[in-house]
Amino acid sequence: MPFVQYDTGVTHVTVSIAVADAAELDAALRRAAAASEGGARLVEWRVDELALHSVAAEAIGRLVADSPMPSIVTIRSATEAGLYDGDEAHRAELLAGLIRSDTPPRYIDVEWRMFRRPGALREKLTTAIDGARADRQPSLIASAHDFAGRPADLLQVVEQAALDAHVDVIKLAWTARSLRDNLEAFDLLAERRKPMIALCMGPFGLMSRVLSPKFGGLLTYASDSDAAATAPGQPTLVQLRDMYRFESIGKFTKVYGVIGWPVEHSQSPRVHNEGFSAIGFDGVYLPLPVPSEYEHFKATVGELIDHDRLGLGGASVTIPHKRHLVRFVEERGGRMDDMSRRIGAANTLIVGSAGGLECANTDAPAVVQSLLEAMNAGVDALQEKRAAVLGAGGAARAAVAALMDAGAEVVVFNRTADRALQLVDDLMTPRNQDDAGRARVGDTAALRDERFDIYVNCTSIGMATGPEPNASPLDVLAGSAVTLDESAVVLDTVYAPRRTALVQQAETAGATVIEGWDMFLRQAAMQFRMWTGRELPNVSN
Ligand code: NAP
Repeated sequence: MPFVQYDTGVTHVTVSIAVADAAELDAALRRAAAASEGGARLVEWRVDELALHSVAAEAIGRLVADSPMPSIVTIRSATEAGLYDGDEAHRAELLAGLIRSDTPPRYIDVEWRMFRRPGALREKLTTAIDGARADRQPSLIASAHDFAGRPADLLQVVEQAALDAHVDVIKLAWTARSLRDNLEAFDLLAERRKPMIALCMGPFGLMSRVLSPKFGGLLTYASDSDAAATAPGQPTLVQLRDMYRFESIGKFTKVYGVIGWPVEHSQSPRVHNEGFSAIGFDGVYLPLPVPSEYEHFKATVGELIDHDRLGLGGASVTIPHKRHLVRFVEERGGRMDDMSRRIGAANTLIVGSAGGLECANTDAPAVVQSLLEAMNAGVDALQEKRAAVLGAGGAARAAVAALMDAGAEVVVFNRTADRALQLVDDLMTPRNQDDAGRARVGDTAALRDERFDIYVNCTSIGMATGPEPNASPLDVLAGSAVTLDESAVVLDTVYAPRRTALVQQAETAGATVIEGWDMFLRQAAMQFRMWTGRELPNVSN
């Protein structure tokens, strides 16, 4: 494997493969070959356990010599959560032997806190590196890990390692306790004096792994399968390549995301990234987990917006933060559309180029658009239609307000009657006697006895991760099976799964049915237009 100049400002996708035993060599090399085909540029051989075997020198030597791409060799010490708990002199000798071999690895990774101390590790490695042929001299990565949180000595590590002439690359990895930790990693990269890797671990750290090319990180790690991650929060190679389009991320790439708690299973990153890719938009869209309380939202979103280097262009906002977004934009003196103000909840944040904020609610127009398209009718078609809205949460507020604006007579049914009363009270208060659409609270028994032209489910019943995943919200609220007729139009806002019990119930009755996925794509398309000025192209189902 020829020696490649890697410290060129390009961020390399590095697949990390742990090898515990010499019997695994062939399989590990096949995995590396597949990863190379899949777009990886470097392989990290994590040989913590292999290094404990008597055949370690030969086995690791073979991994490096036969590697389909340039490699990093790491024998991670148990002192930094690795699996190597053997003799330090043995580890130093193994690594020095690799450096002296005819086919040395491109990089050797050792813990900074051990390397900096005078002793066998430092002496053997520096002697071997200094003695190696200039065109085959491995670069030394001095790494510092902290699995508990940001290390107190983070800045000292950077300072001291930068001054150490034998350190070629500084690697910093710590467990992020909030999205804000990523911002410090970005600043360290942007202000680096040597090639650097700065990554946050855990669910809050994905952002640092995906965005490292924006800030000039030397590399980012990926696993070659869901099960093979060698650190918490590592994305897969396929996710980096296909979902986040890692190769196209650069200094000027705008950042978007979905803010919620939880957000791991959101479909929004797939939809928006696919859209960005299709129109050639220089943006990337990430899951942005923010814990439920307003204080978390305010602190985190505020810092993301104010971090000039990040370049946050906007965000989708989902459960439980839709009301928080309105409060936040109001507190910051931003602008909002009438619907967000009226409902008191918004799902879209737009950050202007001068930092000005705007929020909008795209759920409400998406409800009406979905209904009208399915009815094959214009907006007047909802005038005086009788609509039953199930639920009184954020989605229900959007549906009721939009249906009222379109002139419908809305009846709200909810498990907790007080919440429905509050919703109706809030949305009816600013209206005049002669305004067209009206809303009132219904007794859930009426779902059995009365007929409605339109049904919109805005409860979480039917959601795969919801309270009653296999039930119909109509039947649950009514207390027994409800019979629909074929003239009804039924929109289930739940979109995971697509074919909910309510969708099937409505189909069986011959009613006009709209799946939540249809509404989801419509609200996403409006967000996409606000951020890019372009239409969301067709995305895969
Ligand atoms: P939310 O504010 O938490 O409201 C949840 C609603 O479900 C409340 O009315 C709640 O009633 C009701 N509910 C929950 N468990 C129940 C149970 N076991 N029995 C009866 N009622 C129950 O949530 P949200 O933001 O409005 O979202 C609701 C649904 O809309 C979710 O499935 C979400 O995925 C969907 N949605 C879809 C889209 C889209 O684009 N397709 C957009 C937004 C939302 P109580 O008041 O009695 O607790």
